[in-house]
Amino acid sequence: MGMEKCPKCGSTEIDKGKITSTSLSPMYVSAKQKMFSKTPRIEVFLCLQCEYLESYTDPETARKNING
Ligand SMILES: [Zn+2]
Repeated sequence: MGMEKCPKCGSTEIDKGKITSTSLSPMYVSAKQKMFSKTPRIEVFLCLQCEYLESYTDPETARKNING
């Protein structure tokens, strides 16, 4: 899963990574989920040709958070 080809410029020179900060990695938090739900990590794909950035996260975890 993820970006294998850049949808913007068509390049396949894609680097996989994650969004990070100095301490904890930021996570996707659904507006519908409860406060202490488990938050899925974000995976990020960067096109090394045109700087396009695409991010993915785990929809299963998000769905569980929404539905309880
Ligand atoms: Zn690109």
